[in-house]
Amino acid sequence: MIFLKTEEEIELLRASNELVGMTLGELAKIIRPGITTKELDRVAEAFIRDHGAIPTFKGFPNPYGEPFPASICASVNDEVVHGIPNDRVLEEGDIVSIDCGTKLNGYCGDSCYTFAVGEVKPETMQLLKTTKQALYKGIEQAAPGKRIGDIGYAVQTLCEAEGFSVIREFVGHGIGREMHEEPMVPNYGRRGNGQMLKVGMCIAIEPMIVAGQRNIRMLPDKWTVCTADHQMAAHYEHTIALTKRGADILSTFKYVEEVLGAQAI
Ligand code: MG
Ligand code: MG
Repeated sequence: MIFLKTEEEIELLRASNELVGMTLGELAKIIRPGITTKELDRVAEAFIRDHGAIPTFKGFPNPYGEPFPASICASVNDEVVHGIPNDRVLEEGDIVSIDCGTKLNGYCGDSCYTFAVGEVKPETMQLLKTTKQALYKGIEQAAPGKRIGDIGYAVQTLCEAEGFSVIREFVGHGIGREMHEEPMVPNYGRRGNGQMLKVGMCIAIEPMIVAGQRNIRMLPDKWTVCTADHQMAAHYEHTIALTKRGADILSTFKYVEEVLGAQAI
């Protein structure tokens, strides 16, 4: 069932997503060669709790019923999603996707940004730029009267034209009191297909795009999803509300971009 949100609920979602954006901004300040993903997790969790929210990812169960042990997902290089923060030290040329979720006053925030660690190869930068651009292309399609398939079509068309591949097994989603609500929002699709978009729908759009083939493998930790061919993976995500005028982006990259300045992707 799709829950349409009232304007009051949309403001509650905006507040939670603003906090996610601020948390990503805090991490932008410290992401550099030499830091561990565990340290990023520690900083994020403290920041979220200091602002009266809870990190929704912590304790979230996988299909085996095992709880996610951290507050952010930190997926490095060929890791696509759900990387568990650990003692891995980030190195010059790495990329790290930080997916962050909060619950504030009962409403969820969810957003992801892939950071370049120091200087990265031009082809990696192209993957990041294209994935971020695809996110906004998808968001442009999120208007009343359009359909879910229009979002996926826009994301897929742009990424495949650049020679990249779209992950199929993981998709965007409705969001509200629960982090994952209906409908599913794939990053591939056909124009005019799928669920009709309506005013009041709140969804997370989150292209997961890889440089090589779209085949994935799961690490033995039963969380971390990697590309089978070890090529790089990027992931950008915004939570949006559908209004009469189109998409209202509730999450924000402004705090990240303030920190990164001219280095922003
Ligand atoms: Mg997310
Ligand atoms: Mg999400």
